Amino acid sequence: MGRRNAAEARESDRLLVVSLHDVHAGSLAAVREQVDALGAIGVSRFSLLVVPDFHAGGRVGADPALCEWLRGRAALGDEIVLHGYHHLRLGRRDSWRTAFWTRFYTRNEAEFLDLGRDEARELLCRGRDALAEVQLSARGFIAPGWLMGRDALAAIFEEGFAYTNTVSCLITADRRREPSRSWCWSSRAVWRRVASVRWNRAIAARVLRQRVARLSLHPNDLYFPRLREQIIHLAHRALDSGRRPTTYAEACALAARETEA
Ligand SMILES: [Zn+2]
Repeated sequence: MGRRNAAEARESDRLLVVSLHDVHAGSLAAVREQVDALGAIGVSRFSLLVVPDFHAGGRVGADPALCEWLRGRAALGDEIVLHGYHHLRLGRRDSWRTAFWTRFYTRNEAEFLDLGRDEARELLCRGRDALAEVQLSARGFIAPGWLMGRDALAAIFEEGFAYTNTVSCLITADRRREPSRSWCWSSRAVWRRVASVRWNRAIAARVLRQRVARLSLHPNDLYFPRLREQIIHLAHRALDSGRRPTTYAEACALAARETEA
């Protein structure tokens, strides 16, 4: 391949992954609105981060409308990603090491932060079973809040998942790490929203230089006008620069193929 063609090929490999976090029966209406709003501007595929039993309120299979919608989206090319099990850190005490992440950064939702390897493997299996019960399957796992310890990380790949990621990095089963910062917002207080908008603006050029531009949304994000405006604006920018909307699974598979070539 000549130099010009190689450059063009790289250009066409530039991707946009929009991931919708915390999909469960209670967030279905909000998530569907996100798919509609971003779909209207050209985001045709999503990584849907499904929580198998959100806050222990009932497994995915208990809600037929949710299952049907997820299967329909998967048939259209979306990806189902396993996202924690309860999305809640049940019955664990905070140490000074974990308090920042569990209390300030999340609302006690860092479920995989300090799990042992066996505990993590058990939850991963239960999560996979909950999806299989409703004919869904996940190639990737993403921890709530992107927070996981070393044992949880090992457990994810021992259980055969193809990839995971953090807010700043894609990690594949061969332990390759690709730096990739995600746009994301924290909406639960005015000051967090203001800080999020500034932060996402500040990192925009960096995000758009990456092979994979990532835009990660939580269910309420589009309900705040300033956030909505920025989210739509950034998705437009990514698409206008020629990026192809895809899923994490495909982005990771393409990277593996490039490494082999
Ligand atoms: Zn989450």
